[in-house]
Amino acid sequence: MENFDNLHCPICGSELIDAEMEGEVEGEKVYYNGLYCAACEDVQATAIQDYNEEQANRKYRRRHGLLTPDSIRHIREYLGEDPQELSRILGFPDDYWTFWESGTMPTRAQSNLIRLLRRRSNYALLKAIYAATIVKQQLRRRAPDLEDGVDVMMMYNEDDMVDIGF
Ligand SMILES: [Zn+2]
Repeated sequence: MENFDNLHCPICGSELIDAEMEGEVEGEKVYYNGLYCAACEDVQATAIQDYNEEQANRKYRRRHGLLTPDSIRHIREYLGEDPQELSRILGFPDDYWTFWESGTMPTRAQSNLIRLLRRRSNYALLKAIYAATIVKQQLRRRAPDLEDGVDVMMMYNEDDMVDIGF
C-alpha cells in the first residue's frame, strides 16, 4: 500500500475507508477488501482504482489457483534464469514469461507448469527436454536425410536421461 500516504486520498486528503467491495474479473464476480474515499464518491483517484483492481485480481487468482506476478518473478529469480529462456523451456513463445510477470493472467495449466519449476529437478528435466529438441533440429538441418528412429539422449542428472526420438 506504498502508493497511499497513510491511507489518505491522493485527491482530497480525506482518510480512506477500508471496505468489502464487489468487483468483476474475467467475467466473474469477486468480493475483496478495497479502499474508498467517501468525499470523492464516484470519482475515485486512479491509484485507489488500481489498488482495488489489484485486490480483486488477487482474489480471483487465489480462487482459481493462479500464480501472481510476484510469485512468478520469485521462481525466475530462484532459478537465476532469463525470462525468454524460461518461456522456451516450458514451450511458450519467448515473451510469455515477461507478460506473466507484468500482470497477464496465466491459465491454470500455465500456472501448474510454472509451479513445477519450483523444484530444481523438474527445471533440469524440462531444460534437458528443450535442449534435446534443439539438438534434434540442428541435426536435422545438418543431415536432412537422417532416418527417423534415431534417438537423441540428453543427460539431465546422474540417473536419468531424456530420450527424444526422431
Ligand atoms: Zn478523496
